[in-house]
Amino acid sequence: MSQNKLIVSNWKMNLNIKNSIKIITNMASLNLPKLRNCKNIICPQFLLIPKILEITKDKDIILGSQDCHYEEKGAFTGDSSIEMIKSYNCKYSIIGHSERRQYYNESNENVHKKATILQKNKLTPIICIGESLDQRKKNIHLNVLSKQIVECIPKELKDIVIAYEPIWSIGTGITPSSDEILEVISFIRNFLKKNNFSDKSSILYGGSVNSANIDLIISASKADGVLIGGASIETNEINKILSYFYFN
Ligand code: PEP
Repeated sequence: MSQNKLIVSNWKMNLNIKNSIKIITNMASLNLPKLRNCKNIICPQFLLIPKILEITKDKDIILGSQDCHYEEKGAFTGDSSIEMIKSYNCKYSIIGHSERRQYYNESNENVHKKATILQKNKLTPIICIGESLDQRKKNIHLNVLSKQIVECIPKELKDIVIAYEPIWSIGTGITPSSDEILEVISFIRNFLKKNNFSDKSSILYGGSVNSANIDLIISASKADGVLIGGASIETNEINKILSYFYFN
């Protein structure tokens, strides 16, 4: 696989210490070759990060967080600061995930502030955008995505990673057709270019990715990788998906 690929696992709040160790130990035993163009990024729940770091530190596995706060520190009960995230060697952080938008009223403005503090601290934000089913049916999804891009992504951001995740596809087993994914990925690429965002960008697809649909999604959509939820906590599934990228 010649193009750069990011394979991002979002474990969400699904694993405990025991089963997360099992998944990561199994993954480590795959002995994936060190490839410059493939990045295997694991985003565990915060409390799992120290343990997962211990197991992965000599492996070609990169850690990321599932969120971060936009302030350096302060009275933000329950949140985790960028300093803490960095101290556990996380290089990426998922921000603006639709679950955070839905359950914690995460706004585009907050996502923008999080992207800014991440860049300041030399971490790469993985910025999630995506339309609802209703917006897709009304055929306004491209407008929705443009607004999210403009409001979430700082113009100064040098390394842009966008995860296009149609909300109606997350955890549902339903995926857009490869033409639909291609349409959106190409639209985002052109939109970034036309609006003078950084030319260093990776556009990922997320939503019900599994080992059976990975080839169709990647080869037809020209996505620069995937953000994986459900399949990332199934050992066989994630190992097959990784093998697809690393041995193709
Ligand atoms: C996600 O939540 O980011 C996601 C893509 O989930 P799933 O793969 O389970 O649809």
